[in-house]
Amino acid sequence: MYITTTIPYVNARPHLGHALELVQADVLARHHRRRGEPVRFQTGTDDNSLKNVLAAEAAGVPVRELVDRNAAAFEGLRGPLDLSFDSFIRTSAHPGHRAGVERIWEATGHDLYQRHYEGLYCVGCEQFYPEGPCPDGHEAPLQRVSEQNWFFRLSRYQDALSELVRSGRLRIEPVVRRNEVLAFIEAGLDDISVSRSAARARGWGIPVPGDPDQVVYVWWDALANYVTALEGDDYDRWWVSERRKVHLMGKGVIRFHAVYWPAMLLSAGRPLPTGIFVHDYLTVDGRKISKSAGDAADPVALVDAYGVDAVRWWLLREVPRVGDADFTEERLVARADEDLANGLGNLVNRVVTMVHRFLDGHVPPAGEELAAVPVDEALAAFDFRRAAVAAWALVEEANRYVERTRPWQQPRAGQEAALGTLVHACRTLAVQLEPFLPTAAARVAAAVAGERLPRPEPLFRRLAGSGVAG
Ligand SMILES: [Zn+2]
Repeated sequence: MYITTTIPYVNARPHLGHALELVQADVLARHHRRRGEPVRFQTGTDDNSLKNVLAAEAAGVPVRELVDRNAAAFEGLRGPLDLSFDSFIRTSAHPGHRAGVERIWEATGHDLYQRHYEGLYCVGCEQFYPEGPCPDGHEAPLQRVSEQNWFFRLSRYQDALSELVRSGRLRIEPVVRRNEVLAFIEAGLDDISVSRSAARARGWGIPVPGDPDQVVYVWWDALANYVTALEGDDYDRWWVSERRKVHLMGKGVIRFHAVYWPAMLLSAGRPLPTGIFVHDYLTVDGRKISKSAGDAADPVALVDAYGVDAVRWWLLREVPRVGDADFTEERLVARADEDLANGLGNLVNRVVTMVHRFLDGHVPPAGEELAAVPVDEALAAFDFRRAAVAAWALVEEANRYVERTRPWQQPRAGQEAALGTLVHACRTLAVQLEPFLPTAAARVAAAVAGERLPRPEPLFRRLAGSGVAG
């Protein structure tokens, strides 16, 4: 399975919304690897956005410096968030990207033509609108732009795109997003501008082949990353032969991924992606995430304060499949203390303690098997919250089993059967939780490893009272 996230523009450092998408993609990648399937998990940064240029001008630093610094902060999420991506592409630095964009441009040449264009451009969205203000809420006034641009004959692909989505060959989840895409396609597609003047782009971006006064529209450039990062054998393996190619993204960029991108590929005679998984947005303390949210929305600061398990668990267990979710540190702490410290931590600690007290640490054979709920179906539907709840069912079942069997009141044979069952359940949990909580799962596995268990140690500290705010 080839799994990609979108590549964010790097006008600022990463925030919790980026962490959400990366952690979701990471769960998918780990889940499928655990089942023995070949996986390539790719993320990266969109360095060529005009937004990056404007942010650098505002900060008074060279564009290259700002882009390099912020892109490094995105790549640097790997350690703190326990991410397992296989490849990280930067569109201004990856050696094959520019040539790859040029190849797609040339392969779509039969659908490209020049036209004079006048419109209102939102730099925040990097797209044109018929009138202001920006429907996405960007406050800067739209710029009136009048120039000669290259256009792509998107209108030719209306029927093909509609069929692609209706047939499920391009699966869009959740279904509410699929219906939005179909409504957009079937309302009629206009040709789109796919270049802008190099002067307006301050010379930043990829020049149009054969027309150096224009640069390739940044969305075209960015979308191409899903194939330009793959070269030679990797392209054949992951884009031509691979059966499942899924793009993860936020709801604001579906049109680009479910309409423009497949049309570009159809025009270029290239294979298509097979799945588009869309998440909604996070708010922080009831407000849209912005730079002013500070540490409350900084994933690295949150990991420093609360640990990676607590941050990942909040993102997976609390964010619904459809509908925005509001993050607060209080909610993160409450969820982590209830589930990680009380639910899982307590279970493992009680089991290990009893094995030492009653059986001198020796692990007996399991008396019975406690049923684990599979997570496959929920993950196949891109429902991370349902998957997290399913994975957690065994924690709850094992805690109920302790209360029901009361091993401390049993004769020796009953203690052995019950504790064997519980150690086995903890080992199953370590495997089942690995995609969601790799660090915690490794600690659980170590706590119940071997014929004779190590001495019990607390797995999680309680978080109430700690925090970013002190
Ligand atoms: Zn906008």
